[in-house]
Amino acid sequence: MNEYSSDINFIDLKSQKDRIRFLLDAAIAKVLDHGQFIMGPEVKELEFELQQFTGAKFALTCANGTDALTLALMALNLKSNDVVFVPSFTYVSTAEAPAQLGLIPYMVDACPKTFNISLDSLKDSIHKAKKEGLSYKAVIIVDLFGQPADFQKISDIASEENLKVIIDAAQSFGGSIQGKKVGSMGDITTTSFFPAKPLGCFGDGGAVFTNDEELSTIINSLRLHGKGNEKYDNVRIGLNSRLDTIQAAVLLEKLKIFPDELKKRQWAADSYSKALIDCDLELPVIADGTTSAWAQFTIKTNDREFYKNKLNENGIPTGIYYPKPLHEQSGYNHFPQANDLDVSKELSTNVLSLPMHPYLQESYFSRLAEILE
Ligand SMILES: *Cc1c(COP(=O)(O)O)cnc(C)c1O
Repeated sequence: MNEYSSDINFIDLKSQKDRIRFLLDAAIAKVLDHGQFIMGPEVKELEFELQQFTGAKFALTCANGTDALTLALMALNLKSNDVVFVPSFTYVSTAEAPAQLGLIPYMVDACPKTFNISLDSLKDSIHKAKKEGLSYKAVIIVDLFGQPADFQKISDIASEENLKVIIDAAQSFGGSIQGKKVGSMGDITTTSFFPAKPLGCFGDGGAVFTNDEELSTIINSLRLHGKGNEKYDNVRIGLNSRLDTIQAAVLLEKLKIFPDELKKRQWAADSYSKALIDCDLELPVIADGTTSAWAQFTIKTNDREFYKNKLNENGIPTGIYYPKPLHEQSGYNHFPQANDLDVSKELSTNVLSLPMHPYLQESYFSRLAEILE
């Protein structure tokens, strides 16, 4: 144990809860009083607020971020063994959702600077899949650690190849590109309200965004067991994937302070850059015109053990996202890949995530600078 008592949390949900506790209590009590626990009025209200916030034409909540990806893929009506390109350096859900549906997640490498999908590797993968005679239909891009991926360039490649673009924005809700909010771009965007995400509820939750009315009608049906116009009319095979009314009530309160929290996350990221300026570390690189939701503050170092131990000994928690790329996981290593995915492999050995949340204080950053001096 270290001699300092530490108040640094990797993610600080307690400060947030304390800030709006009375509002949360009242919002939850209201749901207990009206008793509409499934698809109650707060769900519709939240979906309206999510549309307003993102600028997406349609926002549909669901049970979690993994289901959001599953619903998106189901809505595109892909066939068994169709290829979906995915980055290897991501959380497992990005490949799990297509694999569960009998699609083929084709593993693509990462960009060493932004950690997002590599455009060159995507082009190589498409080229190789074409030569192999595979039927490729979609790409899922992931906005890793909060930074929206270069949607325009990916979209150019995708439209040439007739690929649908799904954006896995589980970590980037609240981010933007050239003023366009995450949720308003791509054929379909998905997100997660898992508690540790930038906008989290107090349990599982997720959402799907699209500007396409037909897709939104299909996704709405799919999340409600494939229902048609009437409740007991089942027009397609769907899922049971709804957001609980209580979670919607919680999210409505959290969404009110979310813009302020995003500013505080940006302040924390800027403070890190100042505090770590003299360290031999690679800091996150955010593309021009892009704002990150700062789900994580992830540095790169060839001396990860040293920094990890030094910080942990001083009461500063760290995390490693992700210690193993998907193409090396035993559940996923049989899926195809274009090349050796060296960048994904390298990142898994040299990334280190530092505490990131809106409630980090100035004193933390001065202490950090002293520890690493
Ligand atoms: C968290 C996460 C998901 C899955 O979200 P759940 O709500 O936990 O199902 C999917 N993709 C990425 C990139 C994530 O970080």
